Amino acid sequence: MNGRIVVFNGPRTDFTVREYPVADPGPDEILVKVTQACVCGSDLHMWRGETPPFQKPPGVPGHEMTGIIAKLGRDRHTDTLGRPLKEGDRVAYAYFIPCGSCWACLSGTTGCPNRYRLRAALTVEDPPHFHGAYADYYYLLPRQWVYKVPDELPDDLVAPVNCALSQVVYGLHRIGIWLGDTVVIQGAGGLGINAIAVARDMGAGRIIAVDAVPERLALARAFGADAMIDLREIPNRADRVARVKELTGGVGADVCVEVAGVANVVQEGLEMLRVGGRYLMMGNIVPGAAAEIVPHDAVRQPKNLLGVLAYDAWVIPRAMDWLTRARHRFPFDRLVAGRYPLEQVNQAFQEADWAAKAGQVPRAILTC
Ligand SMILES: [Zn+2]
Ligand SMILES: [Zn+2]
Repeated sequence: MNGRIVVFNGPRTDFTVREYPVADPGPDEILVKVTQACVCGSDLHMWRGETPPFQKPPGVPGHEMTGIIAKLGRDRHTDTLGRPLKEGDRVAYAYFIPCGSCWACLSGTTGCPNRYRLRAALTVEDPPHFHGAYADYYYLLPRQWVYKVPDELPDDLVAPVNCALSQVVYGLHRIGIWLGDTVVIQGAGGLGINAIAVARDMGAGRIIAVDAVPERLALARAFGADAMIDLREIPNRADRVARVKELTGGVGADVCVEVAGVANVVQEGLEMLRVGGRYLMMGNIVPGAAAEIVPHDAVRQPKNLLGVLAYDAWVIPRAMDWLTRARHRFPFDRLVAGRYPLEQVNQAFQEADWAAKAGQVPRAILTC
């Protein structure tokens, strides 16, 4: 049996689609037939050469996906929660595997620096070839988190669950949302839109979205943001900070979530927070992107600053459980852009790149 794999040949070059043999999974592995994968902002960063790819070229791109179990390894019978698995079950899974033995893992911090170690040194030429999402198959390795998908959830909602939604669920859990909090969301992109919905259900009172793109602000409103700060209407930072103060009776926001991916919004976020406010930083993932901040604003007006990357094992099943209940209250269908068969991956990326530059949020979907 052969399967197709999209091959990454280097930044800003065309992907090629090649076929490779599909081997049986090892005793503790699971062979997944991928049904759907998404083009995420991170995938675009890698394709443009702005962040390192998961594997050196020729590698297998993609990390957001879902699929059905094609074959269970001899010793693998359950998902990470101990629920029985069988061939044909729909599954969602993390795309990284914490090492469990570094200082981050041992101290309970996510974002293990070794989480891609098992595939990072491989190329598509190395068995078992299927190292990423954009392919007919994917091997879940020993100890890789995997979860049965609730029947009610359509694939469109499941494929991106291991990235933006899980990141947001974990980040907001870490920073903590208190009942009635005023939450500022800096950047109404994929993370920001999910953060609005999750913060609402965690008990946020007023949610303020900051962005410059009309479509993104419209999405923020559709997902329940109460107030918008449009950077085109309020181009001056001090005026935006004043607007947040005005909306909070002069106090400042309780929580600010940086999901803009723009380095120089950090100082603005600090200024929008009240004394004792909490700042969650998740958007700035490009190495070396610098910004100036005034440390005084976090010390003499004390604030908690927290950077979060990746998430813990409990998050994906919680995120799916929440989605099954929340999917009719939030317009998640508006987060889906075009659908492309695997062979049209180059067209998918070109259009996704164009859409991302125009500030559009919906994700392109590759169907396998
Ligand atoms: Zn992603
Ligand atoms: Zn580790």
